Amino acid sequence: MPSSRAADNPPPTSLKVLFVAAECTPFYKVGGLADVIGSLPQALRALGHDVRVIIPRYRPIDARKYGLKRVDRFIDVPAGARSRTTEVLESDFSGVPTYFVWDERFFGRDTVYGQPDEVMAYLFFSRAVIEFLRASDWTPDVLHAHDWHTGAAVMYLALRGRRDAKLKSIASVLTIHNLLYQGLSGDALFRFAGYSATLPHILGEKPGTANWLARGLTYADIVNAVSPNYARQILTREFGEGLQDLLQTRREPVAGILNGLDQIEWNPQTDQLLTERFAATSLKKRAANKRAVQTLLGLKHKPRALLIGMVTRLYDQKGFDILLAAADRLMERDVQLVILGSGDEKYHAALRALVEKYPGRVGVDHNFNESLARQIYGGCDVFLMPSNFEPCGLGQLIAMRYGAVPVVRATGGLVDTVSDAGRSPQRGTGFVFKPYTPAALLGAIDRAAAAYADPDRWSAIQQRGMAADFSWQVSAQQYVDLYRTASEVHRTAR
Ligand code: ADP
Repeated sequence: MPSSRAADNPPPTSLKVLFVAAECTPFYKVGGLADVIGSLPQALRALGHDVRVIIPRYRPIDARKYGLKRVDRFIDVPAGARSRTTEVLESDFSGVPTYFVWDERFFGRDTVYGQPDEVMAYLFFSRAVIEFLRASDWTPDVLHAHDWHTGAAVMYLALRGRRDAKLKSIASVLTIHNLLYQGLSGDALFRFAGYSATLPHILGEKPGTANWLARGLTYADIVNAVSPNYARQILTREFGEGLQDLLQTRREPVAGILNGLDQIEWNPQTDQLLTERFAATSLKKRAANKRAVQTLLGLKHKPRALLIGMVTRLYDQKGFDILLAAADRLMERDVQLVILGSGDEKYHAALRALVEKYPGRVGVDHNFNESLARQIYGGCDVFLMPSNFEPCGLGQLIAMRYGAVPVVRATGGLVDTVSDAGRSPQRGTGFVFKPYTPAALLGAIDRAAAAYADPDRWSAIQQRGMAADFSWQVSAQQYVDLYRTASEVHRTAR
């Protein structure tokens, strides 16, 4: 085990925390979860805490580029009737000690998400984390798990931890990044996970099934969600995805901590992937990025057309049904629309049709493209997030930092982060609409277009967005407080 690389003079009350997650930048990213796992540990280490990360080692992770080291660490991971010998690699690439669970059978492919055996793969990963801890000479104070993929690790820790001296003292925090995904399987997987098929069912679990997020939420010492507003919303039937009763009956309330943004990683003044770098005082330079986006996505070079951008997974959550229903009326305006993202095939097809119908005005790219994403943030005028629900949302935070004005629906973390420039002329950073309808979306775009027509008003909105502080500073301290509460809860429950 490498020695701790926490600050040279850690505070006397320095904590040890192991992050357990399915994704982490820069190694492997699908969505905002990876951004958080790649940046929050750094912010916590800057506060003097010894934070480390463990993720699966997926095949596409470039071992050479990221300095993955083989350190002769092998663990036996129970998996059904037999156990599998699994290797754990390490890297210090990001300045945070990161461990990678490598098992060819489960992670030797480009993606695990959505595959028929994804639940089994993450049960295996969760179990591997527990075996890693049992074999390790480094014992964290807190295991910080994220989303359904790691719910089983929380359950193992709670159940095995009762009779394992090594695990006993470790408290657990489970963060909900998206309640929609719960890791559902048949209850036959209890056996694969090392439990009898007669494990009692829990609230929110249908007979004959296992819900691995619900299991994590049941056994975690503390649960939180990634924005204050989403933490409140998920207690209701409308947003609770069937788990609202379970969340309401937890002894400790569900905390809400807003995600932060890595200020070094996302900085338009230094971003090497932009055509032209810029600051709040040199917004005119964004024109070169706008032109680059228009070129890259086959749009006409129209410097004054309102360029609307989206960088997102293409799923129902993200508001594509109301956007598509509004599309024809939207294109009656002097606007251009660019969308970078992939997901549901029905949206791929609908967007292809839109590109054909409005050549030179609509551009779509279905790749995962970090460079194009940054050009869009740094070049589009409006960044659109008409989400049906949005736990926190990082897109609008990046957009504001890059001088793009967010037009968002009033839900989840979007409410906590964007204030409407119509309602608060002196403080507004974007445009917010409430009803989940095409008409409300168009209304917000029209209000944005009216502001765009007034260059002084527009640049004031851009500058306020760029000046807003969405760093991790405040939120990281809130997580430290949460870890202490979790340890407290864990101690008293023992
Ligand atoms: P979610 O976590 O629901 O996917 P967020 O807004 O929280 O949504 O985070 C999305 C993150 O993924 C952002 O960093 C965004 O830039 C990035 N992203 C999404 N799709 C792509 C893509 N096709 N190419 C590059 N980055 C993408």
